[in-house]
Formats: sequence, C-alpha cells, structure tokens
Amino acid sequence: MIVCKFGGTSVADAAAIGRVIDIIAAKLDRQPVVVVSALGGATNQLLDVAHKASQGELLAAVQIIEQLRERHLREAAALLSGAPDADEVAHEIGVTFDELAHLAEAFRTLGYLTPRSLDTVAAIGELLSSQIVAAAFRHRGFAADFVDARDVVRTNDFFTKAEPDVDGIAQAAQQVLVPLIQQGRIPVMGGFVGATASRVTTTLGRGGSDFSASLIGAAIDAEAIEIWTDVDGMLTADPRVIPAAQLIERISFEEAAELAAFGAKVLHPATIAPAVQRGIPVYVFNSRRPEGKGTMTPFDAPRLPVRAIAGKRSATMVKLRSSRMLLAPGFLRRVFEVFERHRTSVDVVTTSEVSVSVTLDDTHNLAAILQDLAEFGDVSVERRSGVLAVVGAGLADVSAALAQAMAALGPIKVHMASLSATGINFTLVVDDEQVVPAMQRLHATFFEVQA
Ligand code: ASP
Ligand code: MG
Repeated sequence: MIVCKFGGTSVADAAAIGRVIDIIAAKLDRQPVVVVSALGGATNQLLDVAHKASQGELLAAVQIIEQLRERHLREAAALLSGAPDADEVAHEIGVTFDELAHLAEAFRTLGYLTPRSLDTVAAIGELLSSQIVAAAFRHRGFAADFVDARDVVRTNDFFTKAEPDVDGIAQAAQQVLVPLIQQGRIPVMGGFVGATASRVTTTLGRGGSDFSASLIGAAIDAEAIEIWTDVDGMLTADPRVIPAAQLIERISFEEAAELAAFGAKVLHPATIAPAVQRGIPVYVFNSRRPEGKGTMTPFDAPRLPVRAIAGKRSATMVKLRSSRMLLAPGFLRRVFEVFERHRTSVDVVTTSEVSVSVTLDDTHNLAAILQDLAEFGDVSVERRSGVLAVVGAGLADVSAALAQAMAALGPIKVHMASLSATGINFTLVVDDEQVVPAMQRLHATFFEVQA
C-alpha cells in the first residue's frame, strides 16, 4: 500500500486531475490511497468568504462563493461529461455552496467568526475536490471510492490546528480504508480535514494535506508516501537565487528540517514526521513531470558533507559584550530570559569568553530587548544582516568541507559562524547584501563542476 497526495496545483483543474488519474493508473499494483488538497487557491477563497461576511461585506463574500461554485461545476463537468455520477456530483457542489451562502449570512449577522466555524468553511475545499476526483476516476473506469476524511482522521478540538488522535486514526483506517484496498478499490479522500470524536469538522492547519497523507500512511503502515506537487523535488539551493540548483535525490529528515527553517517548504518536516518515525520513506514528485526522479527521504540517505545551501536576508544581529559577568553561572539564562520575556526567538547564537551574539528574524520588540540587555553590558545592533546555512549530515565528519566553505566566501566578511554539535548545519552570518553572492560562491564550490 502507498499513499499518494496531490497538492492544490496538482488538482487545480480538469486537466491536472486527468494527470493525477494517469499517475495513479500506472501504480495500481502498489495499492494506492489517494489524498487530495482543495482545488488550488480554493482554501484561501473559502476563508476569505468567512472573513468578508463577518466584516459585513456580504456582497463580496457572495461573489467569491459564486466564483467557487462556477469553478467546481465547470471542472466537474469537464471531467464527468456523460458519467452516471455527473448529476450527483453537481448536486453536491450546488448544495454545498448554497449552505455556504447561508453560513455567510449568519457570519454577517453575528459579526464574528469562531475557529470552529472557520474549519467548517475551510474543509469544504477538500470535501468537494475529493468527491470530484473520485468520480473522475470512476468515469475513467477505475474502481474508486470517495472516503470522507472525517470518518478517518480523528482529531482533538483545537480548531484550525487540530491535533491528530493517532490511535483513533489507525483504527478508523483499518475499518474504512484497508477493506477497500483489499477489494482492489482506490480510496480517494481529502487531506487537511478531520473530525472530533463527536464528528465536528476540524482541520489540521494550513498546508495540512501533507500531514494527512503522512498520518494515513502511518496508520496503514504504507510502503511509501508520495507527495505530488508542482516542483521536481528539493533542490541544492533556492532556484530563484541559484539557477544552477540541482535536484536532491535523497535527503535525510534532519537535513530537510534544517532547510525548511530557511524557507524550503517543499517537504515540511513537521508534517511528514509521523511517516518518517515509522521508517516510511516520503517522496516528492512533480505531477507535471511524473517521469522525474523526485526527492526521497529514506532512513539510509548517504551521509554527504554538504547536501544543500540556504540563505535568508533581513536578519538582525545583536551583540552583547560584558567582561564582568560572562561565564558566571546563570548568565546565559538571564540573557536569554530577556528574549523570552519579549516573546522573540533567537536564531543563530555564538558565544565567546566576553560576548554573546544572536540573530533575530522578528524585531517587533527590539527596542525593549536592547533596553533590557543594556543592563548586562555593551549592546550593539546590525540590522542589515543575513544568514547562510551549509547543510549536510556528514559535515562534521569532513573538516575539509568547513575549510572549503570558508575559502569559498573569499573576501566576504563573516560576522558569526556556528557548527552545531550534531554537525548538520554550518551557519554563517554575513551582511545582508552579501547573502546572494555568498550563496553563489558556496553553491559553485560544492555543486557546480569547476572548469
Ligand atoms: N487546502 C489546504 C490549504 O491550502 C491544505 C493543503 O493544501 O495542504 O492550506
Ligand atoms: Mg496547498
């Protein structure tokens, strides 16, 4: 059994859904469970409906509802012309958006939204896309069944970011999904959506369909989880910055986690954790280029010194110098309490005998932080900083890689450098405008063949 999840762009319209069916048709022997997102952009629009209505903009809300209705009807009609299910699916779409229009009126009257009502609205996208996709499979001659995600994905009632009940999901998956698979049928369900024990609709948080796929994969002990999206996989750098970035074929979970912290959102570690913890490999594939190799997160990814380069601009560096108190027991704790008190997380940290330097992404409370830090010593701030990460599970095994990284930077001044004891991320702080040239130099050194 495998779980194949298709993101919003992979089910954006009838043509994209057609490609989904082709992809699955080639894998029937692997007993796929199909998990789909809402049609691309639908979740944002649904949430917009709720917000606009509750702010009194009922007309704007109704216009969005009618756009969504028309789009769902149009794509369903394109997929299902002449299908015995076509009327039933169109009816379901109609009823759903009629109900949404009533909800919008209620939100207008109330003038506020609750997290619970937001989930009821947000879930519509996946509940409809999964019914359309299931019917499209049947119309193409495959034995596929729509499965309501609320019958499988049990959660608590933390609406808008509900937490899964892993045992409940495992039990429901055995009852609902496994018998279908054993009969040679293809279960098709929406991601993102769940329900409480009393069957109130919940969602797992934005982008939650990967999490659904990973939870379902873990529940049925799948052989693999495939995340089908609109990029080829994870790359050795952000291709907008480094056009020569290359596909990473195998990456460890920890490396993916480091890169995600730098904005590489292709594989979000938190969402694939349930699968990875059970040793189930997670793949990323491009639904527009299904023949591509994709990226895999296996347990035994080869340990390379450097797997990828990442960078982020607009960081702020705060340096504290104090000859009196450093290394006194509890000193660092008191310093970091300042950041905690002002609800600001620190990113890179380096220390020396007489100084502590940190970088911050969020500077909302910077003035108050600086004021409090001044009690410990001299404080200085460099707002135009940037952070580079050289990521590789084998980084600490090969000292030459660190030397190569420093040498690659040439004249670029490094303000802070840190290598975690687990040796997976060599982090460097440079001036903001040096982030891009530094990434180019590092990428060339580690990934581009030298002439
Ligand atoms: N449709 C949901 C969202 O846009 C979930 C997902 O696509 O993963 O957040
Ligand atoms: Mg999405």
